[in-house]
Amino acid sequence: MAAKNVPALIVSDLPNVAWLTGFTGSAGMAVVSADKGIFITDSRYTLQAEEQVKDLPTAWFKSPTTGDEFLGAQIKELGLSKVGFEAASVTYANYEKWRDRLAGVELFGAEDLFQNLRMVKNASEIDRIKQACGIADACFAHIQPHIQPGVTEYDIDLEIEFYIRRHGAELAFAPIVVSGERSARPHGKASEKKLEKGDFLTMDFGAKFEGYCSDITRTVVVGESTDRHREVYEQVLKAEVAAIEAIRPGAKASDVDGLARKILDEKSFAQYFGHGLGHGLGALVHDAGRMSPTSTDVFEVGQVWTVEPGVYIPGFGGVRIEDDVLVTESGVEILTKSPKDLLVLPA
Ligand code: ZN
Ligand code: ZN
Repeated sequence: MAAKNVPALIVSDLPNVAWLTGFTGSAGMAVVSADKGIFITDSRYTLQAEEQVKDLPTAWFKSPTTGDEFLGAQIKELGLSKVGFEAASVTYANYEKWRDRLAGVELFGAEDLFQNLRMVKNASEIDRIKQACGIADACFAHIQPHIQPGVTEYDIDLEIEFYIRRHGAELAFAPIVVSGERSARPHGKASEKKLEKGDFLTMDFGAKFEGYCSDITRTVVVGESTDRHREVYEQVLKAEVAAIEAIRPGAKASDVDGLARKILDEKSFAQYFGHGLGHGLGALVHDAGRMSPTSTDVFEVGQVWTVEPGVYIPGFGGVRIEDDVLVTESGVEILTKSPKDLLVLPA
């Protein structure tokens, strides 16, 4: 905060609040300065806050007091004269309310102080991400016998959701289940389309376990595969494996992205790869960190990333293969362990 010239900060972005205080409820914020701070919530969360927030005193309010009224009073009580707020996540309407409550206090939009801190995970965060990856892997194994011609994308989507929720997790995001020509839509949603012989079927899903996400994609072929299926699949797999091998502390995200594109272009496929190669993973599925041609990110020990090259050919279909990796001293540890050879289902 000193380096960024932020003497005090209202932390209201919920993933940042959770990272800073341990609080996982849906209404809470912290006000922190170099030597004091307070956690604020409302009467619905007093017991939860008592249990989760260990390093800050908690203050709570109840109706008819409003949140912004209470925040204003707490900031005045702390004696703060200049306070930043998280410009990237506070709405203009909220800013106006706070400004009105904080006459005499200088309120300013602060840049994000948490993204880079949150990118490097501690042991407990890594453990939760590993458990989320384990649930996603088990889900992929579970889903395979359901993949049959005549089954709809909706059926597969629902089965993924049931499995993840039955196993103590939430969905990290709404699964992507696309087949046949629809698999050329990188972020398509499941539809009533039935799986047919000769379809690529791409499933992209993740579990959120105790607040931390996994994110995996596998593409399989329904019924029987052709040379073209295998050619596209093998090239995406080659790019994915090479990219994972290239990640190590100090390597540049843009270089690894470029390597994957170069490999896809051995078969002129880079033109069909429009998105970035991967993203940071943590409390959010798309957390801070991007692997793209313009990224300035550099890998550091303790970061968790996805690696997910894809080739999407309009009128034919698409392939994406995505794994989650933890950056280690010597390279990476691959956290998602589902097989990557081209599966043709039913087997
Ligand atoms: Zn994904
Ligand atoms: Zn992803």
